[in-house]
Amino acid sequence: MILDGFKVAKKIRKKLIKDVLQLKKNNIFPKLAIIQVGNNTSSSIYIKNKRLVCQEVGIKLEEYNFDDSVNTKQLKKLITRLNQDNEVHGILVQHPLPKNLNEIEIFNMINPQKDVDGFTFDNIGKLYSARNCFVPCTPKGIIRLLKEYQIPLVGKHVVIIGRSMIVGKPLALLFLQENATVTILHSKSKDKEKIIKSADILVSAVGKPRFISEEMVSKDTIVIDVGINYDNGKIFGDVEFESVFKKVSYITPVPKGVGPMTIAMLLENVVEACKENNK
Ligand code: NAP
Repeated sequence: MILDGFKVAKKIRKKLIKDVLQLKKNNIFPKLAIIQVGNNTSSSIYIKNKRLVCQEVGIKLEEYNFDDSVNTKQLKKLITRLNQDNEVHGILVQHPLPKNLNEIEIFNMINPQKDVDGFTFDNIGKLYSARNCFVPCTPKGIIRLLKEYQIPLVGKHVVIIGRSMIVGKPLALLFLQENATVTILHSKSKDKEKIIKSADILVSAVGKPRFISEEMVSKDTIVIDVGINYDNGKIFGDVEFESVFKKVSYITPVPKGVGPMTIAMLLENVVEACKENNK
């Protein structure tokens, strides 16, 4: 069965449209600021998608583009101004930044109350302590998708391939909060094949096409494909969809799986930030 992230995300956006209309009746206009550095093609596609859904939901968008030569001081000046601007509710610095910039340092310039990506130490620490916070959008979207399909998580063995701070690590914390048992695999892990076979829920966040094939997964596994890989202008996940689909119980497609859920969670975080700011 397909875990239809596109359909679920649409439902979430419908609810957000209503929320935003309600805010606007009270003269409150949710606004997101996106900062892009350089011209990474994938980043430009993600931002274009974010722009489209912001328009649909009624969230105002301010975009800032810098070329690779921008320095930390210039970014800090902008982020400080956006932090102080009461009309801006969410600030997002598009990942990845060019290598000459310290991404963690720059993420942490954002006021945690406007950190709608959940990448500041403040929000990461709260997530670690299972406190209310802004949760990174991809992991949040994956849990929401599983819950929409009423898939039980308690006691399940979840195997996550990838340990990035954007996907793997925060997702592991969220699954722990749901009382699942979590294994994280990375490029140095041993016995990967055996561990992958033992998964009730397998999440692949590697970024390599055809990384997961049919013989690697067990029957009845639930497969979440986070990977986004481009080949000849087409998008593929990490999983060999056609063959794996026939074997497992649930699977997310790429596109229209995790991607739309990620963006829906971003919008939800912006609306949440706006409501909190106007309490
Ligand atoms: P990342 O920072 O490059 O992390 C990739 C992870 O994969 C690393 O932890 C790496 O291990 C691990 N890895 C690489 N080769 C491996 C191997 N042979 N065996 C086991 N693990 C291996 O990437 P990311 O930012 O997490 O993103 C991962 C993928 O998800 C990318 O394709 C990205 O475009 C996509 N993505 C999609 C969404 C969405 O909304 N759908 C959102 C975010 C990211 P080491 O740590 O040992 O290097």
